[in-house]
Amino acid sequence: MNVLPKVKYLNAAIELASYGAQKSVIACYYSNTATINPHFASDPRGPEYKHRDGNAWLRSSSPLAYTADRLYRLYTRMFSDNPSFCSRKFGILELHDFFTTYKMLYPRDIMSVNRIHYWVKDMRSEQVFVAPSCKCCNQPFVFHPYDIKKVCNLCVAIERESLSLKEKNNIKQKAVGG
Ligand SMILES: [Zn+2]
Repeated sequence: MNVLPKVKYLNAAIELASYGAQKSVIACYYSNTATINPHFASDPRGPEYKHRDGNAWLRSSSPLAYTADRLYRLYTRMFSDNPSFCSRKFGILELHDFFTTYKMLYPRDIMSVNRIHYWVKDMRSEQVFVAPSCKCCNQPFVFHPYDIKKVCNLCVAIERESLSLKEKNNIKQKAVGG
């Protein structure tokens, strides 16, 4: 009997629990949550671990909307065999790899296992839409159904960042010039 695959799932569940995944989220992928009880983060580190169902964070008005574009672009690269977010092909191992890869690439982004879980669910049930190409960077991007738009939130965030840098430099120059 091959026990390896089981251990692989168990390890992924334990790691996700220690990263702050909610028990109800793990339960969607791994039925035996009782065995991993001691591993759930008792002291969740920061607000991102409290992420719940809902997609207000990816409205254009949210400063975190750009992280949804990063999620989508990473997802299509990692899981090109599952464009419909089918739950049979997106299990505990995929959730684990998706979260850890995202955090490796963008360690300073506010992102959690829980947010990724709910985002995948929303993508699957088409609560969130995909536009094929941003007018600015030509890449596909996701948007909330209330926000019909032509430019992705990542381009908007970059623009916002460079504007605030310019402003800071202007203030510095003024201060230096007296
Ligand atoms: Zn763009």
